Amino acid sequence: MTQRTTQQIITGQETSDGAGVHMKRLFPVQGIMQVDPFLLFDEFGSDDPGTYIGGFPDHPHRGFETVTYMLAGLMRHFDNKGNSGLLEPGGAQWMTAGRGLVHSEMPEQTDGLMRGFQIWINLPAAEKMVAPRYQDYRPDQIPAKTLANGTTLRVVAGSAGGIEGPVNGVSRQPLLVDVTLPAGTSWRNAVDAEATVLAHVFEGSAAIGGRDLGVTQMAVLGDGDEIEITAGPDGARVLILAARPIGEPVARAGPFVMNTRAEIEQAFADYQAGRFE
Ligand code: FE
Repeated sequence: MTQRTTQQIITGQETSDGAGVHMKRLFPVQGIMQVDPFLLFDEFGSDDPGTYIGGFPDHPHRGFETVTYMLAGLMRHFDNKGNSGLLEPGGAQWMTAGRGLVHSEMPEQTDGLMRGFQIWINLPAAEKMVAPRYQDYRPDQIPAKTLANGTTLRVVAGSAGGIEGPVNGVSRQPLLVDVTLPAGTSWRNAVDAEATVLAHVFEGSAAIGGRDLGVTQMAVLGDGDEIEITAGPDGARVLILAARPIGEPVARAGPFVMNTRAEIEQAFADYQAGRFE
């Protein structure tokens, strides 16, 4: 096995999106427009409803996938085809936007803590115009396992620690694991040697790929087929993400991610003409 080392550390920056939702954005930010195939990584977390209650009213997407993983709070989604669902704490939604949809993502609570992640994963040219598809998983549909050293894994996509996540039939062979490590413990896991691998610390601190990371910091890992994480003195909770890079040109404008400018203009034209309906 070849251990992956940390090549870069990204620190989340305060931003707001949607109708004024406050969050920490890891990327895209100036200098890091993507980490192929990942296009966006946001961590939202607030117990002040004023900073999340506006949610994400109706907006379109085309050409990629959005992944929402909730830690606390309730989020309701609706789309223009009548699909809807409720995301609960510990639940996940894997949405393949494909050729396009218009949806809203709104908090279904007026107080308390709202916390989670949104991740955008690109699709290759051949899959950008597939039919939209939702995979919504309740918390009890996401398998969890506690290892002998007390490390707990929740696997949303791919496999880790001998358990497999429910997400299926999507592009880029993704891995999404939520790992909770007690103070000082280590966890090693095999990862796809072909994949881009990210490790985001969202509680405590950890040594990942030879570097020390604090809360709201992400390691971008180099080549190899294994990762190792060692929790700091207060333990750690880390989101592990892996997916195969695409290596195609990226043309991006707001909620549309295509390969060329002309395809972006087509996306705006289709949206304005109601062809996402
Ligand atoms: Fe959205």
